Formats: sequence, C-alpha cells, structure tokens
Amino acid sequence: MQLTRFPRVRLGHLPTPLEPMPNLSKILGGPSLYIKRDDCTGLSSGGNKTRKLEFLMADALAKGADAVITQGAVQSNHARQTAAAAAKLGMGCVILLENRTGSNSPDYCGSGNVLLDHIHGAPTRTYPGGTDMNAAMEKVAEELRSAGRKPYVIVGGGSNPIGALGYVNCALELVVQANDQGLRIDHLVHATGSAGTQAGLVAGLEGCRSRIPVLGIGVRAARPQQEENVYKLACATADHLGISGSVARDRVVANCDYVGSGYGMPTEGMIEAINLVARTEGVLLDPVYSGKAMAGLVDLVRKGHFKKTENVVFLHTGGSVGLFGYNGIFDSTRPT
Ligand SMILES: *Cc1c(COP(=O)(O)O)cnc(C)c1O
Repeated sequence: MQLTRFPRVRLGHLPTPLEPMPNLSKILGGPSLYIKRDDCTGLSSGGNKTRKLEFLMADALAKGADAVITQGAVQSNHARQTAAAAAKLGMGCVILLENRTGSNSPDYCGSGNVLLDHIHGAPTRTYPGGTDMNAAMEKVAEELRSAGRKPYVIVGGGSNPIGALGYVNCALELVVQANDQGLRIDHLVHATGSAGTQAGLVAGLEGCRSRIPVLGIGVRAARPQQEENVYKLACATADHLGISGSVARDRVVANCDYVGSGYGMPTEGMIEAINLVARTEGVLLDPVYSGKAMAGLVDLVRKGHFKKTENVVFLHTGGSVGLFGYNGIFDSTRPT
C-alpha cells in the first residue's frame, strides 16, 4: 500500500492535531476521550472533504478538467470545500444543492455553507428533495461541455475509491501520531454519511493491520444499508490500492440509532452534545454530522459501552459553519 502512487494536490493543513478531551472524559466518567481535529484541515474553515479533495482534484487536473461539478444537501460542507478547492486551483465550479430537509428558512438557504459557496465564487442551483442528483449533474456537465469547458463530476460527498484515499491517508497519519504520543487507540468513532470517510479509514487501518476498530455513527441511512455502502466502498478502495481482500465484512460497523427523524433534522441529543463539547472543551461541532455522532458517543459512554480503561478517539469531521444555517435550534438552551 503506497499512497504516493496516486496523484495528489496539497490542500489541507496536515497532520491535524490529535488531542485529549480531559474535561469531557471527566464529566462523563467513562473511557479516556481524545479528538482527532479534522475540523482543522484549513481549507475554507476545514472539514473531512479536504482530504478527499486532495486526491479528487488531482485526478480532475490529470484528466485535463477546467471545472468541477458536485452536489450535496443545501448546507453541504462538501460543496463548500469543493468550491474553495476549485478557487485555489483556478478551476470553475458549479454546485447543485438538494433541499433534503424541505426547510425554506433564510438561514438554512442562504447562510452558513451556502454563503461561503458564493463567496468562493461558485454558483449554486437548488433542487427539491428526492431529485436524481446524479442525472442533474450530468445535465450540467453537458451544458458546460457545449460551452467548450471540460467538466469533472465529483460524486456527492466525494465518496468513491479516489476520494476515500484521503481517509486511507488519515488512517496512516493517525497510527503514526498515536505511536509518537504513546497512545493505544481502542476505538475510533466518527460520523458516517456518504461512506467515504469510514471506507477509507477501514481500508487504511486494515491495510496496515492496526486492528483499531472503527465505529461509524450514521446520519441518514438505516444500519444494514449504511454498512453495505461502507463495506462496498472499502473493498473498492482496497482494490484501487492494490490490497484486494484486506477488508473483512465484520470490520465495518455502523450504529444508526442517532439519526432522529431524518438527515439534517435536529435531535435533542445533538443539541445537548454540541453544547456539552462547546462548554467543556471549547470545540464546535456541527448539527448534521459531528453533533449527532457525538450524541451517539456520549450515549454509548453513559450506557457503559466502553471500558473505563479504554482510549476512544473521536474523529471530528468538521462542519461547524453549518451552525449558522441552523440558527434558532439553540434558543431553548441559551444561557441566562
Ligand atoms: C460529509 C461529512 C461527514 C460524513 O463523511 P462521509 O465520508 O460522507 O461519510 C461527516 N461530517 C461532516 C462535517 C461532513 O461534512
């Protein structure tokens, strides 16, 4: 497994910090909690898509593209980081946004990530929830081709075997960092959505035979579907890396009990988790992904899922810009 065989452009501030969360660990009275700060990847306020885009944008450039097209939810962190990467590389960028939550609040539709898409110079087009977004992207690609451009389509979340290489890279980075710090990692926990992050992590951690178990906390699909998506992509990523067969099905584990009423829909646990981590560790999570993942982690700690002697690393995948798209949900927990 050698990542330098693949084209890559440097977009992130790497390695990201791996830090203890002593206050949160103490207040929960469970295992020792650590945080891997992929919210600090640097590109346009950071997040997990930056690592994927290092490989995806390099592939686009290698194929002679002069513009990229991608899609996501209205408050997509992936769209925002793609717009920033395209700006940095002097490429065009068109963003397609699917209104999955059905919200028409001005904050949701115009602030947070949407505001930043526009500041980075990317036009956005919004589609109703349930639209076939891959077909919509193909239509836009056709438009750009007729105008003489060479577009490159990036799948939602950047989750294909090329994008997942970014999280193979993160797995290698984490193993070295933990070794340097003398930290034995017993569990790695993070938010899982379009599956590329978990697939890359599992392929990378299994590729170097770390035996570190990964737990993805789902934000959209039910568990069987989510695990299937991650497993398929992890196997395809291992194939792409030339280490076919290295990912066993039982290394892919998702817990989808913290989704609530749907993707991007607020939950009590998410609001509590965001307030808790902000007020104990000074770290901002996000309402769609890391807040729900942390709600899951907090609940599992309270239920005694982990041993007190274990070390649990939470991978912070970013997204706090999305808080500004959800203005209002914290009203009832405002300090007085
Ligand atoms: C996209 C995203 C995730 C999920 O990562 P996937 O690779 O899509 O599973 C998690 N957290 C944040 C903040 C994200 O933007």
